[in-house]
Amino acid sequence: MARYTGPVCKLCRREGEKLFLKGTRCYSSKCPFERDRGYPPGDHGRFAQFRRRRASDYSRQLREKQKVRRIYGVLERQFRRYFREAERLPGMTGENILILLERRLDNVIYRLGFADSRAQARQLVQHGHFVVNGHRMYTPSYIVQAKDDIVVREGSRKNRFFKDRIELLDEGRVPGWLTLDIEGLRARVLGEPQREEIDARVDEHLIVEYYSR
Ligand code: SF4
Repeated sequence: MARYTGPVCKLCRREGEKLFLKGTRCYSSKCPFERDRGYPPGDHGRFAQFRRRRASDYSRQLREKQKVRRIYGVLERQFRRYFREAERLPGMTGENILILLERRLDNVIYRLGFADSRAQARQLVQHGHFVVNGHRMYTPSYIVQAKDDIVVREGSRKNRFFKDRIELLDEGRVPGWLTLDIEGLRARVLGEPQREEIDARVDEHLIVEYYSR
């Protein structure tokens, strides 16, 4: 599955806020967003703060959609598919799309604390370190269901990465729709996430408006 391979920190500067795409670096003084004070990228980015242009409705809708896409590491075509799927589901389309994204396996691995970022979680899944319901899973976009069992593969438990990771796992930080057994390096999906359990600061109505133009 295709993914964005360009400079990551530039995306935060483009959206004007920290998107926490690089794991621990995002919480350190090495975060370029802090250093550059969030200037938009490009030669003229530094002067953008002096331009007093009011953002149009379209611009606000576009930026919100791009922000969510970048947080979850999804390209446009796939994001559009999530939107169509969210429209078909009962309930509010905006919430549905966030819930679908939240249920992606790479996001679940990140939420459980097995990875510092969704990008790292995606790589762990692609390298086959996880077994879902007894089957080795290589697909980061797999949408988890209630009662799914997610286990670190037997052969991967000996890796230094997972041995060190056990020290960092914390059941208290796992959202209520998941459970984590740290010693067993296994997790279970209890149900679907609720909107309030999704911590992304997103106005999902703007995304719906963007695709409804
Ligand atoms: Fe964004 Fe993290 Fe890069 Fe900072 S370090 S700019 S939060 S991706």
